Amino acid sequence: MSIMLHGIGVARGIAIGKAYLMEHGQLDIAEYNIPEYLVDAEIERYSSALEGARSQLVELRSEVPAEIPGEVTDFIDAHLLMLEDNAISRAPIKNIRRQYCNAEWALKQQRDTLVQVFEEMEDPYLRTRKDDIDHVINRIMSLLLQQENDTQELLEPDEESAPRIIIADNLTAADILQLNQQNVAGIITEHGAPNSHSAILARSLHIPTVMGAGNSHRYLQDGEPLIVNGSSGMILIDSDEKVIAHYEQLQQGALAHQASLSKLRSQAAVTRDNVKISLQANVELSDEIKAMQQAGCQDIGLYRTEFLFLNRDDLPSEEEQYENYKAVLEQIDGATLTIRTLDIGTDKRIPAIAEMESAENPALGVRAVRLALKHLDLLLPQIRAILRASAHGKIRMMIPMVTSMQEIVQIQNHMDQEKRDLSSKGVAFDESLPLGAMIETPAAALAADGFAQRLDFLSIGTNDLSQYTLAIDRTDDQVNYLFDPLHPAVLRLIHSVIQAGQQHNTPVSLCGELAGDDRYTRLLLGMGLREFSMGPSMLPEVKQAILNTSLDLTEPLVKQIIATPFHDEIHRLFEQVNRSRSDRG
Ligand code: PEP
Ligand code: MG
Repeated sequence: MSIMLHGIGVARGIAIGKAYLMEHGQLDIAEYNIPEYLVDAEIERYSSALEGARSQLVELRSEVPAEIPGEVTDFIDAHLLMLEDNAISRAPIKNIRRQYCNAEWALKQQRDTLVQVFEEMEDPYLRTRKDDIDHVINRIMSLLLQQENDTQELLEPDEESAPRIIIADNLTAADILQLNQQNVAGIITEHGAPNSHSAILARSLHIPTVMGAGNSHRYLQDGEPLIVNGSSGMILIDSDEKVIAHYEQLQQGALAHQASLSKLRSQAAVTRDNVKISLQANVELSDEIKAMQQAGCQDIGLYRTEFLFLNRDDLPSEEEQYENYKAVLEQIDGATLTIRTLDIGTDKRIPAIAEMESAENPALGVRAVRLALKHLDLLLPQIRAILRASAHGKIRMMIPMVTSMQEIVQIQNHMDQEKRDLSSKGVAFDESLPLGAMIETPAAALAADGFAQRLDFLSIGTNDLSQYTLAIDRTDDQVNYLFDPLHPAVLRLIHSVIQAGQQHNTPVSLCGELAGDDRYTRLLLGMGLREFSMGPSMLPEVKQAILNTSLDLTEPLVKQIIATPFHDEIHRLFEQVNRSRSDRG
C-alpha cells in the first residue's frame, strides 16, 4: 500500500523513480588557529577555493543549452556576482587576518552573520536571496574541505539505475541545472517557495517538483521507489505495480501532449468557432523575448520595468531607460511593446526612495502610481524615455495599481507637459501613444467603465486584484490557502472589467498569472476575454486550450458561473466547462 506525503507542487508533471537523499548544509566545520607566518598561505587557500567556485559556475554557464530560457543563465550570473561581493570575497579574508583562524572557520562565521541578517528581513524576495547566498558559500566550503559536493556525485551518469528523485533540504538553481543533465526525474525539497529561483527554473526545465515537503528526510529512504506529482504536490512512497502503471500512463500522456504543443508555434490562436484571440507575453528581462518568439508570440503585453531600478543605489537615467526600451523594440521588430511604468513599493523596493523602508503596510501604502506621482524624479524621466522610444516602434504605456481616475488625469497632465517640451526641442515621439491602466484594485475594477471610457486600453492584474479583493497578502504563505481565483467576488470583478471594455470598445487584456494557467483559459474566454498576456513558457498550453474551445458551449456555462454566489456551484460548473474541453479535444 502506498504512503503519501504532501508539499507544494511548483513544477507540474509526474516523476517516477528512486529516492536519492542529498544531505545539504551538514558540513562539519572545525576551528583551529593558524600561525602568523601561515596566514598568507591560508588566505591563498581561501582565494583558490573562491576561484574554484567561480570556474565551476562559469563552466556550468557554458553548458546551458541555447534553447533554455535566459532565466537560467541569470541565476548563474547572480551567483557569480555574489562571489565578487565583498561580503564573500573579502570579509572571510579579514576574519583570517584578524583572528588567525582557518579559512573554513572564517567563512562559516561570515555565513552565520549573513544568514542572521537575511533571516531578520521580512521581505520574501530577500529571504529567497538568503538561500542563494547560503548555496554559494556551501560551494566554496565544499572546495575548501575538498569534499565531493553531493551534487557532483550525481554527475556520474548512471544509465543502468532507475531515474532518481532528489530529496534535498533546499536546492539552488545551479544545483537544479546540474541535476537536469543527469538521470533525474523529479525533485522534492523540504523548503522553498513557488516563486523562488529554483522553482522558476524547475518549471522552465519541466522537472516535476514539489517544495515545502517538510520532514521528507525523516520519512524517505535512499533507494525507495517514489512517485512525485508536481501539480498536486503529492508524493507516493512504495506504490504497488498497479499504481505505478497508472502513473506511467499519465506520464506518457503528458509527454505526448507536450510534444504535440510544439507544433502550435506557427498556428494562430483561434477558438473552434473562429474567434481570434491575441496572445502576448509578460517580459521582465530581455532574454525572455527570445523565448516568447520561439513560442510564436510577437507582442509584449506587460513589460515590467522594475528590473531596471532594482539592485542598485542610484536611479536609471532617462537615457538608460530610453536605450533599454529602444533595444526591446528592435528585438520585437514592429510588434507592440506595452511598457508598465514603475511598480515599486511592496516586495520590490529601491534604496533611493527612503520612505518605502518605513511603510507600515506597503501593499496599501505609497506603491506604484502613488509613488510615481509623489516622486516626479521617478516618473518624468520614465515618461520622457517612453515618449522618445515611441518614435522607434509601437509602444503603449500602462499605469499600475490605479484606484481613481484622478491619478490618470495627473499622469496625462505630466505626459502633455513632457510632450510639449519634447516638441519644442524638435524631439520625435508618437503623438497618439496609447495610454492604459492596470485594473488590479477592486476600486478600479468597480469603476472600470470610467477607465474604459477615457483610456486606450485596460489590463487586468489578477495577482493584485485577488490580493486586494480577498484581503490576502500575496506573499504570505499562511494565508495562501485563501487564494482562490474562482471566488465569486474575483470572478465578478474580472467579468465586469471585460464588460466595461466591450461597452466602450476599449481593448481589455489580462496579464496576471491566471492568464497563463490553462485551467482558466476557457473560463476567461467565456467571460469575453480576447487578450491574454503571460510568461513565455505558458504560451503553448494556453494556445492549445484556446484551439479546443467552442465559445457557443462555454459561454452559457460561464454565464451561470458568474450568476451564482455559491462556491460549490461555481466549482461544479467550472469542472463542466473544462470537461467539455477534453470531451471535444
Ligand atoms: C498583477 O498584479 O496581476 C500583475 C500582473 O502585476 P504584478 O504581478 O507585477 O504585480
Ligand atoms: Mg500587480
